[in-house]
Amino acid sequence: MKLSRYTWPQIEEYLKSKQTVLLPIGSVEQHGPTGLVGTDFLTATTIAQRVGIKEEIMVAPPLCYGMSAHHMGFCGTITLSPQTLIHVVCDVVQSLSQHGFKEFYFINGHGGNIATISAAFCELKQKENDLKLHLISWFLLDEVLKYQDLHFKDENGHHATPGEVSVTMHTYPEAFERQTLPRELPLAKKERTHWPLSPQEFRKTYPDGRMGSNPLLATADHGRALIEIASDAISGQIHASR
Ligand SMILES: [Zn+2]
Repeated sequence: MKLSRYTWPQIEEYLKSKQTVLLPIGSVEQHGPTGLVGTDFLTATTIAQRVGIKEEIMVAPPLCYGMSAHHMGFCGTITLSPQTLIHVVCDVVQSLSQHGFKEFYFINGHGGNIATISAAFCELKQKENDLKLHLISWFLLDEVLKYQDLHFKDENGHHATPGEVSVTMHTYPEAFERQTLPRELPLAKKERTHWPLSPQEFRKTYPDGRMGSNPLLATADHGRALIEIASDAISGQIHASR
């Protein structure tokens, strides 16, 4: 149920019975040597749309750009400053709220957005008493972590993970036909240093962009399973909060 594919009278009609909207948010940033730069917004959008179908809830167009300053040492990364992202989140929520949407589920695909979205939520709640704001980072859902632990063990890592790469492999197989995947990748550094890192520090610490992950474990089948697991878990959270 993509909001962008409806007319204003249809949206007005929807609002008579539901005031809930799903809002995918991600980033455009490097995802290691084999992952797509759009991974975070693509995965969030796929999962949000699945939830939208299951729960018959409108899905707003994705916020593709996120706070990715630390990935700027790699080509293709596009970042918003935290201040800009706060403004974007606030403006989008307030636009939809003016029309009658009052419950927002941000389905997030990027860890670097969490602090900034939370800050935007604090601002919004100061301005509008009756908003219900939820932030669900799909890759941190218990059910997703359990699946990844089982299948990828300690090779899941923290960035450019086989889990998120699997979701894009399932949804956009043609994007992977352009590359010949290497047989193996060097062991990715696992330990975290201080945080946040500058773009230079990040590239020096994680030279190919991976953080402890082995994305060669990714498959389209894992992707299909993870989309179902994540969307079921999010549906469960929506039901629980009713
Ligand atoms: Zn990611």
